[in-house]
Amino acid sequence: MRTLTVELGERSYPIYIGSGLLEQIGSYLERHSVSTKSPLLVVTDDHIAPLYLDKTVEQLEHHGYRVVTSVVAAGEKAKSLSVFEDVMTAAIQGGLDRKSAVLALGGGVVGDLAGFVAATYMRGIKFVQIPTTILAHDSSVGGKVAVNHPLAKNMIGAFHQPVMVLYDVDTLQTLPMRDVKAGYSEMIKHGLIWDEAFADWCYSHADSLLSLNREDLAYGLEKGCAVKAAVVSQDEQENGLRAILNLGHTIGHAIEAVGGYGEFLHGEAISIGMIGSALLAVNRGRERSIYTRTKEILERFGLPTALPKHVDTEQLISALLHDKKFKENLIVFVLPVAIGKVEIVSDITLDEVRSVIEQLKEEA
Ligand code: NAD
Repeated sequence: MRTLTVELGERSYPIYIGSGLLEQIGSYLERHSVSTKSPLLVVTDDHIAPLYLDKTVEQLEHHGYRVVTSVVAAGEKAKSLSVFEDVMTAAIQGGLDRKSAVLALGGGVVGDLAGFVAATYMRGIKFVQIPTTILAHDSSVGGKVAVNHPLAKNMIGAFHQPVMVLYDVDTLQTLPMRDVKAGYSEMIKHGLIWDEAFADWCYSHADSLLSLNREDLAYGLEKGCAVKAAVVSQDEQENGLRAILNLGHTIGHAIEAVGGYGEFLHGEAISIGMIGSALLAVNRGRERSIYTRTKEILERFGLPTALPKHVDTEQLISALLHDKKFKENLIVFVLPVAIGKVEIVSDITLDEVRSVIEQLKEEA
């Protein structure tokens, strides 16, 4: 088993990565002082529930926990205020109190939604992340929790750190291939923003990672989590450095919004967005190899690197302008300086973005 710590003073917490951890969930909760006297709420979705919910509840009950469950429909649409209200209703009806904890059993969608419930229920109760997707190596660490507004993603949210992240890599074996690939998008991002050697390692281990080789997968997740933890430890609430984690996200979030939060998976949209950022950098004079290498790595994982022609440029621009990174007619972007290094640029014009969107469509 691999253990990492997100260093945040009194809010520090461990990330446990390994095999067979779900079977030990009860003892991990006890170790982290989650009370058996108050009910727990396990939030999951209807793809994950038939696979892992009974087993999780059984383990918890075996340890003396009283468990309430809330199963939401799978997919990004669950990150909405109406589903948030449904989960809150389950928490209230289940009698959760201030000593209760919310457990997110699932991917980034369940994690963000359940985390926002934990952050707001009775002004904040304990939260535990049990990630079941590759992408969630990113979303389960760092405490950003949120639901979407139809106009823009993650607009309604909070910072609420979990008390622990319990990452059972066995659960990843049941992931559909499209979600496997999409999950690697954020892992590659961690290499692209921070560590060229890790980006190269991802590229050279693509076959083994795509076939879910347990050892390489655990190593990749640990490295990805370590990058995220290092960044978050230095800037918990995104006053500066943490923004580098948004590489590809400004265009990516707009792509998700115009696709109605259904056409593109988050990781797919971020993949196209990272190509967009590379093109913006190249258009501003950076070496073209940044773009070609980024594309090569993402394509090795079967990730999309072009925008389908049917996506309307102006609609995309308008979605992008609802994004929180927009200030005084100029847009803040994370741009690559080299593979493994990025900078935050705050004077990107709409014309530059428009031109890159057209370039992304030409690639299709
Ligand atoms: P997801 O949660 O929708 O999971 C992807 C799909 O896989 C879903 O259909 C789900 O039901 C299914 N699934 C999950 N685990 C499974 C398993 N073990 N076996 C079989 N099927 C399984 O999506 P995701 O890609 O994990 O997360 C994307 C979300 O994460 C987006 O909403 C994004 O905004 C968010 N995110 C948040 C942060 C953050 O810091 N909070 C960071 C990155 C991404």
